[in-house]
Amino acid sequence: MTIHHDKLAYGRLARTSEEMTDNQIEDILKELSSGDEKYILAIDQGTTSTRAIVFDRRGTIVARAQQEFPQIYPKPGWVEHSPQDIMGSTVAVTGEAMVRAGLSAQDISAIGITNQRETTLVWDRKTGKPVYNAIVWQCRRTADYCDALRRDGFAEKIYNKTGLVPDAYFSATKIKWILDNVDGARERAERGELVFGTVDTFVLWQLSKGKIFATDYTNASRTMLFNIHTLRWDEELLRLFDIPASMLPQVYPSSYLFGCTDPRLFGSAIPVCGVVGDQQAALFGQLCTKKGDVKNTYGTGCFLLMNTGDRAVKSQNGLVTTLGATVEGKPCYVLEGSVFVGGAVVQWLRDEMRIISSSDDSETQALKVKDSGGVYVVPAFTGLGAPYWDPSARGTVTGITRGTSREHIVRAALEGIAYEVCDLVQAMEKDAGIKITQLAVDGGACKNDFLMQFQADLLDCTAVRPKVAETTALGAAYLAGLNAGCWSGIEEIKKNFEVERTFTPNMGEGDRINLLNGWRAAVKKATLK
Ligand code: ADP
Repeated sequence: MTIHHDKLAYGRLARTSEEMTDNQIEDILKELSSGDEKYILAIDQGTTSTRAIVFDRRGTIVARAQQEFPQIYPKPGWVEHSPQDIMGSTVAVTGEAMVRAGLSAQDISAIGITNQRETTLVWDRKTGKPVYNAIVWQCRRTADYCDALRRDGFAEKIYNKTGLVPDAYFSATKIKWILDNVDGARERAERGELVFGTVDTFVLWQLSKGKIFATDYTNASRTMLFNIHTLRWDEELLRLFDIPASMLPQVYPSSYLFGCTDPRLFGSAIPVCGVVGDQQAALFGQLCTKKGDVKNTYGTGCFLLMNTGDRAVKSQNGLVTTLGATVEGKPCYVLEGSVFVGGAVVQWLRDEMRIISSSDDSETQALKVKDSGGVYVVPAFTGLGAPYWDPSARGTVTGITRGTSREHIVRAALEGIAYEVCDLVQAMEKDAGIKITQLAVDGGACKNDFLMQFQADLLDCTAVRPKVAETTALGAAYLAGLNAGCWSGIEEIKKNFEVERTFTPNMGEGDRINLLNGWRAAVKKATLK
């Protein structure tokens, strides 16, 4: 352990939350006095699986463990998770990752938690027992209520306070649903017996056996109850949604000593020094820490986030404004846009069209032709999001001729992902008044070299793929490790950050304009219903 580690860790103790017990503080002091190499463990509690990854101080992966858990669909459009599955998988993968790394709890400097955002739990303050399953972000059960909010003219007020558009994704209407529909819940909540948390808060509570009741700015900003300008829970919104303020956790910065895990769980207590929502974790893991830095995650869907520094940018194009993680001081503001169907179009080619044998095969097929032969695939399977916002749009293939082959279709489908992201990038550039010159990329589909090169060409900017593809877990580990004093600051982390490949644009202006015009014409056909 280096001198700066000690200094920073003592500084961390000074900033400790009041709720910490003497035992917890003693544990941290013990950690400070040990001179061994220390590791950081990131818990990534995602929508379909929970992962734990152990990183060393170079940001290299030492070991990982992963467990999938069941999705519960009680009715069409409803999605739930069992709280026991969330916690069971979290504890299991954390223990397993330590065993795989050959480490004990004392070797872990800090835990960083990142999580599926917006997913909502309500539990008993005394027993920790949830009153209902976790209502998952994708769940549409409160969509009609959100339509009514919009009809009744609340959209602007909600947007001005929270940066969000009224939608069933966000936690507020899910909490209200639980209070209105679970027997006795409202009365118990009003008596102060029930608490609310997003997944980070629930995991923190359970790992500390009820000692920590907290969240961070990035998760709070996705509840639709948090004022992103005053950085407080908003009383007016709490009244609107009829949610008692006593249910809400304390909000802290993402890089902060939240407390320690219960020593009975992993053999000894481990400090939890980072909490961050998954997309903001990826933004931080890509080291997009300066104003104008942008990352795109190519997963099932795509998530584009831009750090806009201390300025909360108002979107004219249907993007949302949210809070991002910083190491010190106030959180930064972030502009966020998403594409519903990204890598999922590749799954569709494989599982429904059956014209590729694997996701990787999409690249092999696409490279067999020199272009898409005038074919465009608009992957609007569930409608189009920003900047079009047309829920009735549907997937469309245009430009088919007698010579069109399956390779053209595959290529056009991959290109479709890049066009969607290009639309988002252009909307973001307009809103922020910032020209994007570099895009940090991650997620499952970013390993497709063809897609990344086409993306760089379309955007006329470089696409940078990092060596450690697990940027979400890495972001949580950086935030925790910075608080625990594993690094002196962002600059030290930047020195260790390794780029795997940079894609440089290589397309003439004329070609780019022609392709984009063709895409716009295809989108028109997808939306003309
Ligand atoms: P999520 O976190 O949303 O589950 P991942 O980041 O694991 O998603 O990425 C999975 C997605 O990436 C899938 O939709 C899959 O089709 C796509 N994908 C995986 N490999 C490739 C590839 N080589 N080319 C294109 N898409 C790919």
